[in-house]
Amino acid sequence: MERVNLLDFDLDGLTAYCAGLGEKRFRAVQLFRWIHQKGEARFDLMSDLARGLREKLATVADVRPLPVVGEHASADGTIKWLFDVGHGNAVEAVFIPEDDRGTLCVSSQAGCAVGCRFCSTGHQGFSRNLSTGEITAQLWHAEHQLRRRLALPAGQRAITNVVMMGMGEPLQNYSALVPALRTMLDDHGYGLSRRRVTVSTSGVVPMIERLRQDCPVALAVSLHAPTDALRDQLVPLNRKYPLGELLQACQHYLDQAPRDFITFEYCMLDGVNDQAEHAQALVALVSGRAGAVRVPCKFNLIPFNPFPASGLRRSSKEQVMSFARILQDAGIVTTVRKTRGEDIDAACGQLAGEVQDRTSVQARMTRPVIRIASSPTSAP
Ligand code: SAH
Ligand code: SF4
Repeated sequence: MERVNLLDFDLDGLTAYCAGLGEKRFRAVQLFRWIHQKGEARFDLMSDLARGLREKLATVADVRPLPVVGEHASADGTIKWLFDVGHGNAVEAVFIPEDDRGTLCVSSQAGCAVGCRFCSTGHQGFSRNLSTGEITAQLWHAEHQLRRRLALPAGQRAITNVVMMGMGEPLQNYSALVPALRTMLDDHGYGLSRRRVTVSTSGVVPMIERLRQDCPVALAVSLHAPTDALRDQLVPLNRKYPLGELLQACQHYLDQAPRDFITFEYCMLDGVNDQAEHAQALVALVSGRAGAVRVPCKFNLIPFNPFPASGLRRSSKEQVMSFARILQDAGIVTTVRKTRGEDIDAACGQLAGEVQDRTSVQARMTRPVIRIASSPTSAP
C-alpha cells in the first residue's frame, strides 16, 4: 500500500487523517509544525510526539519531497530549483530575494493547457496537474534549504511571499491548489498573510469566484490585451471567458480580497499589444468606459521573454516606458517588471522544457537567455 504523503494535507486535512489514527487535533498541530515550521521529515526526530504515533506514522506515511534535478544560483541572488515530477517532466520554483522580502515563484502544473501565444510553458503543452503535496513540496524544500544555507536564526523565515506564477494555470488545478494555499497561510504552517500570497491566472472566471469564497488571497490577472479580438489571439481562454466576464469577476473578487486592487499583468509584445492605442484602450477598459465594469487595479508590465517558437519580439524599453506613461497619466499605478536571474535562464517553463527535451541539446545551447519574473505584484 502506498504511503500517505503528509505534504498533501492542510491542517484540517491532517487533523482528519490523524483522527483516523485515533489522535486528537493537537497532535496534528504538533506534527504539522514539525513538518512545515521545522522542515523535519523524519518521524523519529519529532521528539514531542508519542513514540507509538511516531512508529505508526513511520509505517503508513511519509513527508515526501520532490527530487531536485537541478539548482541554479544567479549572481543576483536568484535561485532556481528544477524538480522531477516523473515521466520525464520537471517543474521549477524560483526564489527572488529583494531588500525587504524573499519571494518564491511556485508551479501548479507540469505544462499548461491554456496555450498562450507568448508562453514557453504553453508551447510545451499540458502534461498533468501537480498534487497538493507537489505544490507544497516546492515551498517546503526552498524554505528549509534557504534557512540552512543562510543560517537564519530559529523561527526566521527566508520566504515572505509566494506567487503562483511558475508553470501552469493554478485555477485549472483548483482542488490541489487550495489546500496548498491554506498551508502557506496557516499560522502553524508558513504563516504568510493573504496579501503576500498571490494567485496569478489567465482568467478562469468561475474559479476566480470560487477562490473568492474559499481562500481569498491576492489576485493577479494576466490581461495582455485591451480587446477581445486581440486577447482571443494571445490567450485562447478568452474565447471561453471574454473580457467583460473577466472584469466582472475581478470586481466581485475585490469584495473579499486582502487588497483593494487587482494586479493586471501585461506582457509587452513588440508591435502586437504595445502601441499607444492599446494603452488608451486599456485605460478605457478598466475605468468602465468600454462597456465593462470599472476595476480598481495596478498594472505590471512584463518585458516579453523571447523564445524561438513564439515568432514574437520583446518591446523596446522606450516603447514600454511610453506605454507605462499613458497608464500612469490616467492615474493607474504601473510598474515594469525587473529583470532578474538572466544568467541562469530563470523564466517560466524554460528549464523544465529542457529536461523533457533531452535530445535537443543544440537547440538548448542556442536558446536566448530569458529573465525571471521579479515580484512587484506582492505586497511588502
Ligand atoms: N498561468 C498563470 C500563471 C503562470 S504564468 C498566468 O498565466 O497568469 C505567470 C506570468 O508569466 C503570466 O503573467 C504570464 O503571462 C507571464 N508569461 C508567460 N510567458 C511569458 C514570456 N515568454 N514572457 C513574459 N512573460 C510571460
Ligand atoms: Fe499557461 Fe499562464 Fe503560460 Fe498562459 S501564460 S500558457 S496560462 S502558464
